[in-house]
This record gives sequence, structure tokens and C-alpha cells, in this order.
Amino acid sequence: MAIKEVVKNPAKILSKKTKEIEVIDENIIQLLDDLYDTMVENDGVGIAAPQINVDLRVAIVELGEDILEMINPIVLETRGEEEDVEGCLSFPDLFGMVKRPTYVKIEASDREGRIYELEAEDFEARCILHEIDHLDGVLFDSKMTRVLTEEELEELYADVEEE
Ligand SMILES: [Zn+2]
Repeated sequence: MAIKEVVKNPAKILSKKTKEIEVIDENIIQLLDDLYDTMVENDGVGIAAPQINVDLRVAIVELGEDILEMINPIVLETRGEEEDVEGCLSFPDLFGMVKRPTYVKIEASDREGRIYELEAEDFEARCILHEIDHLDGVLFDSKMTRVLTEEELEELYADVEEE
């Protein structure tokens, strides 16, 4: 177990393009495990390497019961558009509306170095695109069309507690 501290905005590491990974060695495996432990500890649904102060193109996203590990991910295709609520572990207490595609197709490498393609829709597509944005130094507040009001936030938390 290695829970890392989550880097909070503003920070230089969060707003730069991360480095491609050339060799998947034990450090990368450790990084994937650290990302997982840190995401779970902070109740996140996704996290990217720069959020734990690592300048590498690696991110993970929770997809139902599975964890999607993305090494050097690239977006191959997007379709549709929808505005929905987003938050980010690097922005505590900030929630707002962000427009994202409703469909995404990506290519990435898994921890064994196998290249895979993956399609996702709706909430999962949103999470994947949010994390890949992190790897390009793009933060969700720059895409936010408006911040949630205090009232909307309370409703959001109430809904979460009912689940
Ligand atoms: Zn984020």
C-alpha cells in the first residue's frame, strides 16, 4: 500500500504535458498501484500520474468493478456531446458543468505492455477523457461552463447518500 498525497491546484505539474513511457518496468507497475491506492483512499473514480506528482503518461479509471489502466493513452475517436457535473481530486469542493463527448474510443497499453483499444460511453467516457486531459495538462475548470451553486451541491450530496 502506498497512498500518495494528491497535488492540489494550482501546481506546475498539473498544467504541463506529461512524458510518454518508453519502458514498462517495475516503477510503472508501482506507479499504477500507487494511483489505485490513492484513488480509493480519496473516493475518486479516476486519477492521473501528475496528480501524485509524477510526470508520466499514466492514468487509471474505475469502470464498474474493473480498473482501467491506461499507459500512453491516445484518443482515437469521439462522438456526441453532453453537459454534466464533474469534480476533480485536485480541486477539493469545486464542482461544475463540463461539456464532453458521449462516446470515446481510445488506444493505450496495459501493464503487460499490450496495446488495447477500448470504447466507452456517457459517464465512463467522461471519466476517461477527464483523466487523459490531465496527461495533457488540461484541467476541468478550463472547460467548465458554470460552477454548481451551493444548493445544487447539497442536492448532489443528498443523491449520493441515498445510493
Ligand atoms: Zn481531475
